[in-house]
Amino acid sequence: MESIVRQHGKSSSSGTGVAVTDRLGRPLRDLRVSLTDECNFRCTYCMPEELFGEGHPFLNPRNLLSFDEIENVVRHAAAMGVQKVKITGGEPLLRPGVHTLVRSLREIPGIDDIGLITNGYHLATVAQRLRDAGLERVTVSLDSIDPDTFDRIVGRGGGLNRVLAGIRTARDVGMDPVKVNMVVQRGINDGEILEMAEFGRREGVEMRFIEYMDVGRRNEYNRSLLVPNREVRDTIHARYPLVANEPAYYGEVAETYAYRDGTGRVGFVSSMTQPFCGSCTRLRLSADGKLFRCLFSGIGLDLRSILRDPDQDDETRNLQLDTAVRRFWGIREDRYSERRAEEKSLPGSRREERVEMYRMGG
Ligand code: SAM
Ligand code: SF4
Ligand code: SF4
Repeated sequence: MESIVRQHGKSSSSGTGVAVTDRLGRPLRDLRVSLTDECNFRCTYCMPEELFGEGHPFLNPRNLLSFDEIENVVRHAAAMGVQKVKITGGEPLLRPGVHTLVRSLREIPGIDDIGLITNGYHLATVAQRLRDAGLERVTVSLDSIDPDTFDRIVGRGGGLNRVLAGIRTARDVGMDPVKVNMVVQRGINDGEILEMAEFGRREGVEMRFIEYMDVGRRNEYNRSLLVPNREVRDTIHARYPLVANEPAYYGEVAETYAYRDGTGRVGFVSSMTQPFCGSCTRLRLSADGKLFRCLFSGIGLDLRSILRDPDQDDETRNLQLDTAVRRFWGIREDRYSERRAEEKSLPGSRREERVEMYRMGG
């Protein structure tokens, strides 16, 4: 097979705040904000129906951060160097009025990139509103364009056509890029790799192939389902030759490639086989106000109790928030993906608790 050549991308812009770095010298640049732990789908690798059936106790709405509280946290994070915010969930579009949050986050000095990741089910309905509010790009998760496979993966709700309509509407209202995330699983949807690449090329959207991860404790991770992205990339490259891009900015999660024939781009997120902890600049805020330094963390820092402390005035609360987040990032040493093998060798009882993906978003 032909080897892949490199081409140069654009360089990063700098933040406006006083930057913080963690113990491994990694700056804080990105914040993922989860709006809810609920979802209308039950993807087998995230919220399997057997564990998240009818009556599952999701967060009480009282305990969700309000949009004002989220905005406050983002302001603090921006002052520490955060430039990019990604809105996530659970399914973020289950929360009414997300466009109002987008509009207010756009106003925050230092935030120069706002994205949203969704399962796409409600996207067609709100895409124009989100675009008008200033959302420039969106990622839609779509693991299959075969209706039966799609239904099997998302478990409940179905609605492949609605998701496809969401993707097309996002593109038609001018979101750019529209990215489509596919988690590839051996024997489940790996037969669709080329089809999905062709879907991306045809529809003018950027496919992102994601390695199936051992995130959380509840999805009964089965490593034999993992398809290394090298394999996915080679499959695509053999049919549609690829040209590697340089990273567009420090800490970019995906390795991206352009199709040599000029028909768009494609990306690979290979957390399992090519960990990228060394440049991980991401902090995550759960819907109930806990901060997590790593996708594989167990314990989060409770910001809600600071934000809602009735005994403090605004100034003191803000100071406490600032100090807590700075300290939390400053002592960060997390690099789970690089240490996965060590953790795996521990007996089950010594493995730490881990937060679930649906609680803090991907
Ligand atoms: N509900 C929204 C969605 O599906 O896009 C946002 C939240 S979802 C947790 C974010 C992303 O995490 C999705 O692209 C999903 O496919 C991915 N994800 C969830 N569990 C995963 C796992 N075990 N391995 C890899 N990706 C996973
Ligand atoms: Fe819902 Fe997204 Fe998890 Fe699927 S991956 S169950 S759509 S939160
Ligand atoms: Fe970042 Fe943790 Fe993932 Fe490593 S394992 S890239 S530190 S979120």
